[in-house]
Amino acid sequence: ATMPPLLAAIATAGRHGVLVKSALVMERLGQVDAVALDKTGTLTEGTPRVTDIHPLTGSGLTEDGLLTLAAAAEHPSEHPLARAIARAARTRGLRVPSAEDFVSIAGTGVTATVDGHAVTVGSPARLPGGRASHPAVVAAANEVEGPGRTAVVVALDGAPVGVLGMADRPRDGAPAAVAALTRVTGAAPVLVTGDNPAAAAHLAAELGIVDIRADLLPRDKVTVLAELRHAGRRVLMVGDGINDAPALAAAHTSVAMGRAGSDLALETADAVVVRDELATIPAVLALARQARHLVV
Ligand code: ADP
Ligand code: MG
Repeated sequence: ATMPPLLAAIATAGRHGVLVKSALVMERLGQVDAVALDKTGTLTEGTPRVTDIHPLTGSGLTEDGLLTLAAAAEHPSEHPLARAIARAARTRGLRVPSAEDFVSIAGTGVTATVDGHAVTVGSPARLPGGRASHPAVVAAANEVEGPGRTAVVVALDGAPVGVLGMADRPRDGAPAAVAALTRVTGAAPVLVTGDNPAAAAHLAAELGIVDIRADLLPRDKVTVLAELRHAGRRVLMVGDGINDAPALAAAHTSVAMGRAGSDLALETADAVVVRDELATIPAVLALARQARHLVV
């Protein structure tokens, strides 16, 4: 017997480096007419570097002291920003104390107890100790975010003590992949990110994306997808993080980036990019559309 078109397409997608989990998923991929893309780890490499270390005047902390505190609180976190802070501390040869009572707040940051003190690291827009708490935080965060980097604030017992800046690189081939997604689906992709608006706009400009939704909590990404659905669109969500899982589940269909991807994202998504290239996604969408026309 000849293989049914959807199964044949799954085999071909596999050769392209994309694991499509069922024939139904392949069918839905063929219906996609809008694409929502996560930023960190999806459009970027997902391995940011620490670029700025700003202890606040009066905090009594040196650059190394601030980095040590942040690295201690972030130690258990798998988040790309946490990994960047850990790498920077290691590079400087810092001795990072262990932390207790670690709690991660999705799309916001982390909190932990270090040497008996409450330390938080995370979004200057959302955390206590963030922009709202002190003009010096606003100034440092603006300096970091203005050129398109990501700022996180570090607070000690509720008071801000410093700001760290981080920058990530766009993936190779990302502009071409954005153009190909537009061509195949007939619609310009939407960027959905928890990062700050300036960082989102900076990357979007490099990649040719005009529709930008920034400063989103994980549940806000779900809201954006619901809006697109209500507008009659069949949306493909592409993401990688634990935070992306609700959005992946809410989309018409979804793809996770395999290498950077969290276990939860890989399990939740309908398809997984195993070969770590964005170009495989428009290729599989085109394949799915063809297969649809062969199915009667
Ligand atoms: P994205 O949508 O780009 O994947 P996230 O939802 O993971 O972003 O995070 C959004 C924002 O929340 C980050 O830009 C940062 O300000 C903050 N944040 C989340 N997790 C952490 C963490 N572990 N450490 C510091 N900041 C964090
Ligand atoms: Mg991500």
